[in-house]
Amino acid sequence: MSPDLLLPTPPIVRPDKDRFLQEENPFEAMMSRFDRAAVLLDLEPGIYKVLRNPEKQIITSIPVMLDSGDVEVYTGIRVLYNTSRGPAKGGIRFDLNVTLDEVTALAAWMTWKCAVVDIPFGGSKGGVVCDPLQMSVGELERLTRRYTSSIIQTLGPDSDVPAPDVNTNERVMAWIMDTYSMHVGHTVTAVVTGKPVEMGGSRGRREATGRGCMIVTKRALEHLGMPIKGASVIVQGFGNVGSVAAQLLEREGCKIIGISDRTTGIVNPKGIDVESAIAYVAQNRTLAGFTKGDAVSNSEMLTCETDVLLPAALENVITTKNAKHIKAKVICEGANGPTTAAADAILDEKGVFVVPDILANAGGATVSYFEWVQDRQGYFWAEDNVNKSLTTIMERSFDAVLDLSTQHKVNMRTAAYMLAISRVATVHRLRGVYA
Ligand code: GLU
Repeated sequence: MSPDLLLPTPPIVRPDKDRFLQEENPFEAMMSRFDRAAVLLDLEPGIYKVLRNPEKQIITSIPVMLDSGDVEVYTGIRVLYNTSRGPAKGGIRFDLNVTLDEVTALAAWMTWKCAVVDIPFGGSKGGVVCDPLQMSVGELERLTRRYTSSIIQTLGPDSDVPAPDVNTNERVMAWIMDTYSMHVGHTVTAVVTGKPVEMGGSRGRREATGRGCMIVTKRALEHLGMPIKGASVIVQGFGNVGSVAAQLLEREGCKIIGISDRTTGIVNPKGIDVESAIAYVAQNRTLAGFTKGDAVSNSEMLTCETDVLLPAALENVITTKNAKHIKAKVICEGANGPTTAAADAILDEKGVFVVPDILANAGGATVSYFEWVQDRQGYFWAEDNVNKSLTTIMERSFDAVLDLSTQHKVNMRTAAYMLAISRVATVHRLRGVYA
């Protein structure tokens, strides 16, 4: 295992404390978009009802022996939303704000995401209500193994395949793979994706979500006739998705004028050197103390003058409170669910071109698919092949969504839902209802 896997999990952007007073909960946000697309598709009532409901929701209590010798009990959730197109696919997050509604919305988003990029997976998501920053490595390992064992009946390369998400990483995936393999009595690499490369992980997986964001941002700028060289970009969230997207967009000639994490926001109209910000975070864990620009709050940063805004942290950061003040011409949703449904209408009215989450951040799931294929074949690809295949899929999916949006005169989000739902519905029609 490479030494960086032994470092503590990097901190994430923490939600504001009014996160619980939001205009919509994530499941409602997902459902209102689903409903709009279902109406436009004239979806038959039976399939509509099936697709509005998760297939399976598991809530489990996870006792963990703490280093102190005390026992703490955590709540773990795994939701399989839909498996009609293939095994359920979706990450596991460790966070204090995890709820059943949130995990269900995220599992539905995984279903639509895998369908938008046309990979043969359904959608799932998992979460454990905990604060991993307050836990030791030993406590996290025991929590991960006990959670895995509680949901073991749903896991498997043909049934449900986890991956990293907020506050989980390659090391956590290695523990899940080992626990599952011990239960079944032999090594099963394809049971999780986002593993260390040394044990069946795919080259390019760690960077895949950020790389996918870069690919679709370029495509969006090209479509709008805006030059990529010199385009200004603000990235909110500087974890695995935001930092890689910023780095790759900078390499394409964009000017990164704002970055932030939960501690710090920095804006510099002359451009921020992303490599040095990444090096700073690698040393200091956060951007706190990185002084290569003017300090701004997370919320101020979202409404600064920029060509591209890339929210890459958590849900519900673009709401009715700030949408009318957003000046970006393009929003590329690196996070899942960063825009509320009510804010969509405001952005539409302002003519902001939004590349929706289920398309923009599908690069991670896509390279997870490549990892699963490589594990099952026992044959591993060069990084260049991974990146080329990812580019092909992201560009093809962007173009398919754009075509549908032009054809039906709807925004990119509605078009992406229409494409996804029609693909999932087609399989339901072909498979029929088992009685
Ligand atoms: N957690 C990532 C997402 O939300 C990746 C999921 C996966 O690779 O299964 O897209």
